[in-house]
Amino acid sequence: MKKSIILIGFILSFLATQAQEIKLDKTSFNALDLTYPGLEQVNKLVNNGDYEKAAQQLLQYYRNRTKVKLTEYNPDDKIRYIGKQLPEATMEKADKALLHQFQPHKGYGYFDYGKDINWQLWPVKDNEVRWQLHRVYWWQSMGLAYWSTGDEKYAKEWVFQFRDWVRKNPLGLSADNDMYAWRPLEISERVQSLPGTFNMFLYSPSFTPQFLLEFLNSYNEQASYIQAHYSTVGNHLLFEAQRVVTAGCFFPELKNAESWRKSGVSVLNREITKQVYPDGMQFELSPNYHNAAIDIFLNALRTTQLAGEEDDFPASYKKTVENMILATINFSFPDYTFPMFGDSWLANKQAMLKEYQPWAAAFPDNQVIRYFATDHQQGSAPSYLSHALTTAGFYTFRNSWENNATVMVLKASPPGEFHAQPDNGTFELWVKGRDFTPDAGVYVYSGDSAINKLRESYRQTRVHQTLTLDDQNMVITKAALNKWETGKDLDVLTYTNPSYKNLDHKRSVLFIDQKYFVIIDQAIGNATGNLGIHFQLKEDSQPVFDTKSNSVHTSYTDGNNLLIQSLTGKLKEEPGKVSYAYRTEVPRPAFVFEKPKADDKPQYFISVVYPYDGLKAPEISLQENKGSNLEKGQLDMTITINGKKKVIATQLN
Ligand code: CA
Repeated sequence: MKKSIILIGFILSFLATQAQEIKLDKTSFNALDLTYPGLEQVNKLVNNGDYEKAAQQLLQYYRNRTKVKLTEYNPDDKIRYIGKQLPEATMEKADKALLHQFQPHKGYGYFDYGKDINWQLWPVKDNEVRWQLHRVYWWQSMGLAYWSTGDEKYAKEWVFQFRDWVRKNPLGLSADNDMYAWRPLEISERVQSLPGTFNMFLYSPSFTPQFLLEFLNSYNEQASYIQAHYSTVGNHLLFEAQRVVTAGCFFPELKNAESWRKSGVSVLNREITKQVYPDGMQFELSPNYHNAAIDIFLNALRTTQLAGEEDDFPASYKKTVENMILATINFSFPDYTFPMFGDSWLANKQAMLKEYQPWAAAFPDNQVIRYFATDHQQGSAPSYLSHALTTAGFYTFRNSWENNATVMVLKASPPGEFHAQPDNGTFELWVKGRDFTPDAGVYVYSGDSAINKLRESYRQTRVHQTLTLDDQNMVITKAALNKWETGKDLDVLTYTNPSYKNLDHKRSVLFIDQKYFVIIDQAIGNATGNLGIHFQLKEDSQPVFDTKSNSVHTSYTDGNNLLIQSLTGKLKEEPGKVSYAYRTEVPRPAFVFEKPKADDKPQYFISVVYPYDGLKAPEISLQENKGSNLEKGQLDMTITINGKKKVIATQLN
C-alpha cells in the first residue's frame, strides 16, 4: 500500500515536471509585436513555423538588448556584485528560498511552504501574510545571490519557482486564491520587481528560450490584468499605475506595452491632482504612505525619462512632487524621524537619508532638499520655523531645524482614507533628540477577528493625545481651522473638531517663548458624559505622578525631561502601549485628566506641556485671570514657573 502511494506520488510529480514544458507554437508569440525593430529575424522564423529557433533568436535579442534601462538592476550592474558579499539577510532569504522557506512579511519569521510549494498556506491569519507571499520578495534576493556567487542553483530554482507559481496560481483558480494571488497591488509588486530579476537570470543556462516565452506570456497577462483592474484605494492605485509604467517601458516589444505606459501615466497625472493637497500632503495622511507616494511619482518620472518619454508628465507634476518633499521636511524631526500618525512606523535616519538621494537628484536646484539629503552639510535649512500644512491639517511648532530643537507636530485633519485614524488633535513632541510622546502606531493591518481587534486597539481615539467623551472613538470628520498665527514669542493654533454628536472639541495650542506649550481644550455642546484629555509617554520615561499638583513628569537621567500639568481635571493613570514596527509592541506610560460634563455648559481643560533641563521638575502653577473668557476666545492667564510669573493674554480665534 505504502509503496503504491509513493509510486503514484512519483508519477504525479513526473507529470507535473512534464506539464511545465509547454510546446511552443504560433500562439506562444502572440503577446509580442513582431514588427518591433530588432525582432525581424524572430518574425521571419515564427512565420516559417520554426518556433524553437524563433524562441532562441528572441532570447538572443534580449541578451543583446542595451537600450532599455531600469532605475536599478540593469545587466551591467552585475559587475558590482560579482564576488561581493551580500547583506546577511539577503543571503538568508536566497538560501532559505532554496528550501522553500519564505518570509512573506517582515512582521513574521520564515515559514516552510513544503517541498511541493503550497501557495495557499496561511500560517498566521493576518491577511498581509497571504497577500505578500505573492509579492515573492525573495526572488530578487535569489537573483542577487546568483550575481554574487554565480552558483547556478539559484537560477535553476528561480526558474522552477516562477513556473510553479504560474502553474499553481492561474487566474480564476478560485475566488479565494484570486483574492490573494491576483490582487492588483500584489501583481504590481511582481510586475515591478520581475524586470530586475529577469536581468539577473537572463544570461543563465537555466533561462531557456522556452522559459523566456513562458515568462513573457505570464508577465503580459499580469500587467494587462492590472490595467483592467486598478484599485480604488489611494496609494494602491498609485503603486499599480507606476508599476504598469515600468512594465510598458521595460518590455516595449510587447503589443500592450504602450497602452500600459500611457494608462499608468494618465492615472498618475490624474491622481496627483486628486490625492495631493495644495499643501503637498498625500490625502491618506500617513507620513509613511506620503513618502511612498513621493517615491512612486518620482520613480514613474525617472522610468519614462530613461525610456525617452519624459514628455509624459507636465511641469506641474514635478512641482507637486517637490512640494510633497517640502511637506515631509516640515513634518519631520531633526533626526529624520516623523510622527507615526495613521498607519506609520518609526523611521530611521539612515533609511531616510537614502530616500532623500533620488529626491535631491530630481530637484538639484532646491537648496532645502539638498540640506536634508546631505545631512545638513550642503544647501540651506528652510527660511521658516513653525509652519502649517493647513489643508492636510499638519501643524508644526518648531524653534530650530537642528538637533537641539523643540518640535511639536499636531494633526487636525479632514478624514483620511484607510490609513488614517480617529485621532484629530493628537501630537508628537520631540525635544533635543527625544520623542517624548510617540504615537501608538499601527501594530497590524487586517485578518481574522483576533487580528482586527488588535488593529482596533491601536486606532482608538483614547490612545491618542486628544479629548474623548466616555473614552469612545471620535467620529472621523473634518477639523476646522480657527487660527494659525506664528510669531517670535508666541505661535497660536486653534481648531474645532466635531468629535462627537453634540460635542465639539475646540483645541488651542500656544507655543510660548519658543520653549513650552499651553493647551486649552474646550468641550462645547449639549452632550454629557465623562471628558478626558489623554497623554502618552515614551516607554522609558519613568514618569512621576503627582496628584497634588495634577502633574506628571519624566525622569530621564540625562536631564532632558518633560512635565505635563493640568489646571483642571483629575489625573488618572491609563494602560498604554506603543508599536514602532509591525507586530512589535512595548508597554508605555499613559494618563488622562478627567472631568464630568453634566449639562450643556461648555467645559474646558488648561494644560501646560513643559520641556525642561534638569533632574528636578519645575514648580508650575496656572491661574486664569479675570479678563479671561474662553467662550469668546479671550485667554488671560498667569503661569508661575519656579516663582516667576508670566501673564499670557491673547485672542485664541
Ligand atoms: Ca495613531
